[in-house]
Amino acid sequence: MEPIKKIHHITAIVGDPNQNLKFYRDVLGLRLIKQTVNFDDPGVYHLYFGDHNETPGTVITFFPWTNNNQGKIGSGQVGRIAFRIPKGSLDKWKTQLSEQSIDVTVTQLFGKDTLEFDDVHGLELAMVEGEETADNHDIVGFHGSVLLSGDPAGTKELLTNIMGLKKLDVEDDNHHYETVGAEKHHIITAIPPQPMGRFGIGTVHHIAWSVPDLDMLKAWQSELVKAGFRVTEVRDRNYFNSIYTAEKGKVVFEFASDTPGFDVDEDKDSLGTALKLPEQYEHRRQEYETLLPKLEI
Ligand code: ZN
Repeated sequence: MEPIKKIHHITAIVGDPNQNLKFYRDVLGLRLIKQTVNFDDPGVYHLYFGDHNETPGTVITFFPWTNNNQGKIGSGQVGRIAFRIPKGSLDKWKTQLSEQSIDVTVTQLFGKDTLEFDDVHGLELAMVEGEETADNHDIVGFHGSVLLSGDPAGTKELLTNIMGLKKLDVEDDNHHYETVGAEKHHIITAIPPQPMGRFGIGTVHHIAWSVPDLDMLKAWQSELVKAGFRVTEVRDRNYFNSIYTAEKGKVVFEFASDTPGFDVDEDKDSLGTALKLPEQYEHRRQEYETLLPKLEI
């Protein structure tokens, strides 16, 4: 199998959708690229944010719950999500976030200066400088993420032997890995594992790994089944196709195709400006439009 080259998207559960929109659009400068509903729970939005070119591997998505059901960050979840920023821009971001009364700390989590902070709903985020400079300090995609694996050895086997990630030499108590694509997404498993987490507001739901197309997705499905994982059927997510599995440390891994892409149901220029529903829910549009809080876009 071709190794996994990059993250496709990361999906988290947050609170009020307008607070979510304001944070990721106005504070972090990302672009809302899709307003849709959670295909498995259509009374809830599914909001997608990316960079301004909707580059694959930059997409963070949210299920904004309005039920105040706070989650607990812990084992079996994806932990802190790191964005990559241009070389030399960490101090600018540190100042900019501090000015908006966001608590920031600089750690060495990713083996180099890591600006850690939380979003408006307690989701753990970070920024790490990449190798490239830019004429602005905009986020350029994911840098990587932490996996709060309940079984770091089992997770290591899947990441390295099956998915083809490279083990990195970083001298701390965590295991560090890197995807082999140009993005070099940096994945960390923390040792020892945390107590068990509970999904809810402020927690990550899953991480999705990018595969080129539907044929490769089916090949990954067979490969994972052969390796002893329980894998779902292929699900049509309208913008991509997906399979899901729980890895040995109980973190939910999705494998998602880069095709067909986010512009299947709206122009590239107007991405994210209107509520888009898949065919199976279009007949209930009025119900969702009444139920879902109006987005202040
Ligand atoms: Zn997903």
